Order: sequence, then structure tokens, then C-alpha cells
Amino acid sequence: MNDCDLLVIGAGSGGVRAARLAAAYGWRVVVAECSAPGGTCVNLGCIPKKLLHYGAEYAEEWERAAAYGWQLPAVPRLHWATLRANKDREIHRLNGVYRELLSTAGVQLVEGQARIQGPHTVHIGTTAYTARHILVAIGSEPWVPELEGREHVVVSDALFALPELPARAIIVGGGYIAVEFACILKGLGADTTLVYRGPLPLRGFDTDLRAFLLEQLRAQGIHLCLNAEVAAVTANGDGSRTVQLEDRTLTAELVLYALGRRPRTRGLGLEALGVELSAHGAVIVNDHFQSTVPSIHAIGDAVGRARLTPVALAEAGLLVRSLVSADPCSPLDYDSIPTAVFSHPHMAVTGLNETRAREQHGEIVVRSSVFTPLRYTLGGPPGRALLKIIATTDGRLVGAGMVGPEAGEIMQALAVAVRAGATLDQLGSTLSIHPTLAEEFIDLGNVPYKPMPGDG
Ligand code: NDP
Repeated sequence: MNDCDLLVIGAGSGGVRAARLAAAYGWRVVVAECSAPGGTCVNLGCIPKKLLHYGAEYAEEWERAAAYGWQLPAVPRLHWATLRANKDREIHRLNGVYRELLSTAGVQLVEGQARIQGPHTVHIGTTAYTARHILVAIGSEPWVPELEGREHVVVSDALFALPELPARAIIVGGGYIAVEFACILKGLGADTTLVYRGPLPLRGFDTDLRAFLLEQLRAQGIHLCLNAEVAAVTANGDGSRTVQLEDRTLTAELVLYALGRRPRTRGLGLEALGVELSAHGAVIVNDHFQSTVPSIHAIGDAVGRARLTPVALAEAGLLVRSLVSADPCSPLDYDSIPTAVFSHPHMAVTGLNETRAREQHGEIVVRSSVFTPLRYTLGGPPGRALLKIIATTDGRLVGAGMVGPEAGEIMQALAVAVRAGATLDQLGSTLSIHPTLAEEFIDLGNVPYKPMPGDG
């Protein structure tokens, strides 16, 4: 019996959340997956990336340890194969956790390639399934433009399985992946160059935070080629690659292209059924995540409103609740998503950035603080932090951002205050935990805010 209420294509974050939730409402649910469960986040994204990020952070910590009196027996060396194997072991464990989650929820996981054959019919391999609703939660994949020498570059997927670390790396792009991997590769020991077509990476984030982070990248020795376009990539006899820019050439063992991701919707059978797709293959959906074919829905990177795991999870919840209760789902606020770039140091934001806050609220209150975190004061590589809050003139917090150690962790907590519409007074009158980095946000809430001596 292959009939079900919901057939989900893709066992990534969004697909698994939707499947489990629908099953909890008593629906019969089938999930099709042609690869390891967990999707991009678990297999080729957030989780392995964060593990490599932790690995890369040790480089600086060894140096700082000496300032704290630790006498290291020798210059520490990275054994890449150990890091890679330990990371793989954890990812395999998580694949098992995802399988278990589905099975415990009563969801049938079918491993195989899915193809949509009709508004209610999906073939997984050679078996036909019929479903009241079909959910496309198939995710996205890295994209490389037409380019002379395209075959000599890699995308982020390849970095998780590198046989060995490159001595030199060139990273093309200026988004999350480019900046995060520039810091990871630099931390793991590669001489790293970031090539970006604009003046300041991470477009869309607060300009002050971007400029501050750029200086931190430069200070840690990442070479920056800004306002630079790649003309061609060539392979050299010794295995290295040469990247041709307008005014110079760069050579490295690894060239990573990180220019965004595109939905993996090709070959799924959507076009033949009349499901409308964007030029880059994103499923066009309405506020209820319903495509132009009413029984076919899509969430997450397949839609691409914001390519972030928590967004896919939230969309899954909204979709399933609206399908089950037939109530229209309350739209997600895509304008104020908390997010972090796991660069070194992190950059994290929540709510509106300064530009958007001005557009929406006119006059606003902006307070910021630049300082050296206590941990960095005894020696080792220098590091500074920037904290910033944005409020309306009547004191309601509408945004916050930070570049500094553990910014992602700190911003997650502050995101609650911003979302709850806390005021500057409430922020400033909250007792701080001392001494911490995050207490500087409490100081920013104090009126009048008095910069500390040494603040930039
Ligand atoms: P992003 O969309 O973040 O950045 C793409 C970058 O590529 C931008 O700097 C863009 O420049 C540049 N670019 C695009 N097209 C071209 C082109 N033709 N020539 C030169 N440069 C170009 O994509 P990523 O690949 O970094 O990441 C993919 C997605 O994964 C992101 O959307 C993000 O949501 C998600 N992600 C999230 C992470 C997190 O939450 N920490 C970590 C990693 C990924 P410009 O800005 O000038 O257009």
C-alpha cells in the first residue's frame, strides 16, 4: 500500500521537520531521500562546517595559550586526516539520528531518487506512490558560472572530504561560505586569498559590521582582492591552479568558488506538471508554500526565500499546521532573521540593520561599542569586538549586531529581546553578568550611554 497523506521529497532539515510534524497529527507520511539523511545542513553544510571552524580556532588558541603561561612542548601541527575522520564519524552518527527520528515518528523513509509523475503521484526508484500532498524539500546546490577553466575549481561540498589540506587557497565570492571558509582554511594553515567582485564582502549585512570584520580578516593574514573579477582559471603541471584577474594572477593548490546556491529542482518533473519555477529553478509558492499546482508544496532552499536551516524548519512548521488545520499560516518575518556568519571572529545580527531601520523608521537611535575582549588582553593574536544596537526614537530595539568571539551565541539570546520589542531602558536596567562580553550590550542600553575610555 503506497498511499499516503504527505510525500516529502528530501530528508533535510525542512523535510524531516515537516514529516515528523505531519505524522504527529496522525498523517501517513513517506519521505524520499537519495542520499544520507540530514540534508545539506548535516552532511555538507552547517554541522561539518562548524566542526572545521572549531578545529581552525585552535591555531590562535595555541598562540594565546603561551600568554597565559602554557609552555607548549613543540609547535602544534594539524593532522587533517584525524580532524576529517572524527568529523565524518559525527556526521554518520547524525545520519543515524535522523533515520531514528523518522522511524520513531512513524514516517516511512524510502531511499531512492524521486520523480514527480502527477499532481498526486511520485515514483521513488521504480515504485509508484500516491499522496494527497507532495512536499518539495529538496534543498539547493552550489553554483559555478560559465568560466574558462571551470573544471579546475571546487565548490564547498569538496572541502569536507579533501584528501589533504592545500598549502595555498583562493576563494572566490563574498558571501557566507566564502568568508567562513577563508577563515577555516587560514586557521588550518593555508595561505588564503579571498577574491570578491565588490568593495566589501557580505552584502546585505550592516555596513559597519562588514567593514569591521574585513579589518579582522586582514589582521589575521587573509589576503583580500576586492573589486576583482576572475577572467579564467588554468591548471599547472604541479597540480596548482592559476587564477587570472584583470590586473594580476594568483596561484594556489585549491580554488574554491562560493557564489551562491541554486535549488536542486531540475529533473524532478516539476516543469512538465506546470509547476512554475523561477529562472534559477526556485519553486514559486504563495504564502502557504503552495506551488501553482495546488497539491504540490515547497519549502526551504527549494524556494530560497532565505537559505538558512532555521528558516526551512519554520517554513515546515507553518506549512504543516496550515495543511492540517486548513487555516492560512501566519507569514514568516523574513526581514528580521537572526543569523551568524561563522567567520573568525563571528559576525551575528538580528532584526534590522541600520540602513533598513532608517528606511522603515526614519530617525533612529544607533549605539555601538568597540573594545578588546578581556580574553585577548594578556597577549597572543590581537582581536577587537564591535557591538551595535539600533532602536526607534521612543527606545524600542529593532536590531542588533556584533562582530566578536561567540557573537552567534550572544546574538541568539539578544534576538529574543529584539523580537519581543524590548526597550533600551529594559536592556540597560537588566543586571549584567560580569565580566562577560555580552554585558557590553547591557551598557549600550544605559541612558545616557557613555563610551568607555579606549572605545573606538
Ligand atoms: P551567498 O548568497 O551568501 O553569497 C554569494 C556571493 O557570491 C556574494 O558575495 C555575491 O556577490 C557573489 N556572486 C554571486 N554571483 C557572482 C558572480 N557571477 N561573479 C562573482 N561573484 C558573484 O552564497 P554562499 O554560496 O556564500 O552561500 C549560499 C547560501 O548558504 C547562503 O545564501 C546562506 O544563506 C547559506 N549559508 C548560511 C550559512 C550560515 O548561516 N552561517 C553558512 C553558509 C551558507 P554580491 O554580494 O556582490 O552579489
